[in-house]
Amino acid sequence: MKKTQTIFCFLVSFLLISGIQLAFAGESEEDADLVILNGTIYTMNRNQPTAEMIAVRDGRIVYVGDDASKETWIGESTRVLDLKGRTLTPGLIDSHAHLLALGRAKMKLDLSRVGNYEELVRMVEMKIRETPPGEWIIGRGWHQSKWDPPAAPLVKGFQTHWALSKVSPDNPVFLTHASGHAGFANARAMEIAGISDRTRSEAGGEIIRDSDGNPTGIFTENGQELIRRHIPGGSEAQNRRALELAIQESLKNGITSFRDASSDGDAIALYRDFLEEGKLKIRLWVMINGHDEKLVEQWFSRGPEIGSGDHFLTIRAVKLFADGALGSRGAWLLEPYSDRPDHTGHATIDMDRVYEVSSKALLSGFQACMHAIGDRANREVLDRFEKAFNQHPRAAEDHRFRIEHAQHVSAEDIPRFSQHGVIASMQGIHLSSDRPWAIDRLGAARIQEGAYVWQKLLESGAVVVNGTDAPVEPIDPIENFYATVTRRTLKGEPPGGFEPDQKMTRYQALHSYTLAGAYAGFEEDLKGSIEVGKLADFTVFSQDIMQVPEDQILDTEVEYTIIGGEIAYARRQE
Ligand SMILES: [Zn+2]
Repeated sequence: MKKTQTIFCFLVSFLLISGIQLAFAGESEEDADLVILNGTIYTMNRNQPTAEMIAVRDGRIVYVGDDASKETWIGESTRVLDLKGRTLTPGLIDSHAHLLALGRAKMKLDLSRVGNYEELVRMVEMKIRETPPGEWIIGRGWHQSKWDPPAAPLVKGFQTHWALSKVSPDNPVFLTHASGHAGFANARAMEIAGISDRTRSEAGGEIIRDSDGNPTGIFTENGQELIRRHIPGGSEAQNRRALELAIQESLKNGITSFRDASSDGDAIALYRDFLEEGKLKIRLWVMINGHDEKLVEQWFSRGPEIGSGDHFLTIRAVKLFADGALGSRGAWLLEPYSDRPDHTGHATIDMDRVYEVSSKALLSGFQACMHAIGDRANREVLDRFEKAFNQHPRAAEDHRFRIEHAQHVSAEDIPRFSQHGVIASMQGIHLSSDRPWAIDRLGAARIQEGAYVWQKLLESGAVVVNGTDAPVEPIDPIENFYATVTRRTLKGEPPGGFEPDQKMTRYQALHSYTLAGAYAGFEEDLKGSIEVGKLADFTVFSQDIMQVPEDQILDTEVEYTIIGGEIAYARRQE
């Protein structure tokens, strides 16, 4: 009896208390889900550049301003994030990176830090010890121009396979260049692929040979397919693992929105599965692989997919590669390479196709994103864009077409970006990694005129967005920010920066990673700045990246990544 009474009393008080709470909650519609305060907040909103406090409800920003009103926002269930003096910016947008490749790179032999050819051979040798004979060894990230000492012998600027083949007689090996634009195969891999001194390359690629005509193991651009098509494809389980790893890596680096620079139908299906399973934790905006004609036609007839799952998946762009990269001398130049005078690089696609895809993209509501690195490729793409815009002026009123990389642009083509509203989708970190040797490829005059000329483009009125091209570079916004504002290598060289008049200011650099990035995906009303009504996506840094001395920028850590008001990553448990 007593027991029942107790339970009864308990129930009554429980109901009373919850009733009161319900009434209270009903009265306080002002309560936020999340309140962030006690830090430096950069909003990227010109009318209110900084703030003391942000309040979030249902994944959106409901208040930005001083913290005098904080009590009215904080209720029983409000999570309060005390920044403890740290710095918050709008969530970072990496405007050009490769999501699945980033995850797969985490699963491969990482050769990005090998210092020379001998080290590369040693790493493969170690991997072979734990790999059954016959199984492929896949790696990526090597870059012969960074090696000390350089490989010997060099054929057309690249190492040769003999030393590698000697340690790997029973395992086929294929190692992709850091740029992705060349691959390095051993003898066993070439044997499996049936490569002989008479094999012809695919169009838009090259099999490099020594003076006797023997393949040296280097396959550039489309030539890589001769080997690649023999590598067993990734299983679904492997792809899922890769996607999980890529999402984790992005969150760890403060990335809230990821612009995926070319995906095939399988990858898009996997993104959709992840979205439905609630595992797509970053906001994804996808460029469809335009080289898959059937896939692109399907999308052109069904139209873009915008903002699925509360803006976690958008598919509204098509990507084509117009040329290769500078490292492998595949970038398409107006004049020959300074270090290979018989060679101007090449188009990797028929330019009529660039025009055709651009026209169809305009008419069906897609953005066209063309990879172009050399000055010739940039000019040819701008010509095709212009032709499409003139053909369909109504559809071209707000197209937001992009040139991916726009790395080396002839002086007369620089103003054409802003003239036609073409977005320059660039990567600050490429300057830092590549400029030390890019001058060999282009010579001083061309470097000064139009290589990595962010400031010339900005001054002409063009929109410039920033990204890392991960896994070509780590998806690290701190390194990228540093490279963008200093134009130095990550070792700090040269002290004044390369072509210092082309540095971005810190404001411009943050803009290129936030509001400009949002604009380049038609999302400036949703993200890119901290304003009431926008998505509650934020990145929190350990120190003030807008103020610390330049040589301390690289010490910055990402502390929190917040997406839709949820803490998706925290560096330490609090
Ligand atoms: Zn890329």
